[in-house]
Amino acid sequence: MIKKIILLIVSALFFIGCSSARKTVDYENIATNYVNQIKSENLKTNLTIIASDEMEGRETGSNGQKKAGNYIIEQYKNAGISFPNGATSYYQNVPASFLNAKRNLNLQDSENIWSFIEGSDKKDEIVVVSAHYDHVGIENGEIHNGADDDGSGTVALIEIAKAFQKAKNEGNGPRRSILILHVTGEEHGLLGSRYYSENPLFPLSNTVSDVNIDMIGRRDDLHKDSNNYVYVIGSDYLSTDLYNVCENANKKHTNLLLDYKFNDKKDPNRFYYRSDHYNFAKNGIPSVFLFSGVHEDYHKPGDDVEKIEFDALTKRTKYAFAIAWEIANRDKKLIVDKKDE
Ligand SMILES: [Zn+2]
Repeated sequence: MIKKIILLIVSALFFIGCSSARKTVDYENIATNYVNQIKSENLKTNLTIIASDEMEGRETGSNGQKKAGNYIIEQYKNAGISFPNGATSYYQNVPASFLNAKRNLNLQDSENIWSFIEGSDKKDEIVVVSAHYDHVGIENGEIHNGADDDGSGTVALIEIAKAFQKAKNEGNGPRRSILILHVTGEEHGLLGSRYYSENPLFPLSNTVSDVNIDMIGRRDDLHKDSNNYVYVIGSDYLSTDLYNVCENANKKHTNLLLDYKFNDKKDPNRFYYRSDHYNFAKNGIPSVFLFSGVHEDYHKPGDDVEKIEFDALTKRTKYAFAIAWEIANRDKKLIVDKKDE
């Protein structure tokens, strides 16, 4: 009798021990702490360097782009953020033969750059957060710094990665894994993201979403009175869940005006097909593209850091993070319930 009671107590303690070891995190409530880790001054410091003349406009395969790549990697090393499991460095090499296959542009070997925050209980499911770090280089002797295109997305990714890593360090790490992907060759036809989609490090079947950022640092003519907006493109094409995640993350954290103007497939600009998320979306992966529109310096030498509106860039970066946070931490992965046609 006594022995049995002892056994019961011992087994009860064992179960208590197990359940407290599996810490339950209230991801929804703590999200705000990490959204607030996205700092305007960090975005500015990094963008001032990424979009400086030293980077020579970051043409795909150029020395300037490689310098920018080195700077990006340095930020990850400083923050203790590693490259993905299964990779041997922060680089995915994208060979010149691939870059020049469709049109010979005489591009040199280039690289996608990746960093990784491994998930906890759902680590085999991958959430990609992407932005391109190449731009158009030097044309007619003038450096095109591409501060908005896509320096803004480049520095946003660094801040987002740091916020996820901080969460992880504090035991609140994402349940799914976060793959931060700085792609190359975008300006020559989404080449780096296509290379990744054809040579993925993690199976595309386990890739649950791509949150893609391309130009979120300025305002367009349609929003002259306020920069408190962002264009949301593609969120509802494959997954009602993703649409709802994007709507709710904004209501909870950022209160931007979500502008769906370019979500209309009949829109002649066809922006949905014009940035890197498309290489994920075409493979049936629910993807959202965040964008603040074109302006008079689009693909011109005047796309400089002085013209970036850092209050807007910060808010839109927080928004992208909040979307990725919810996708990474929700119980059920995003359901694909629609066909993109
Ligand atoms: Zn771009």
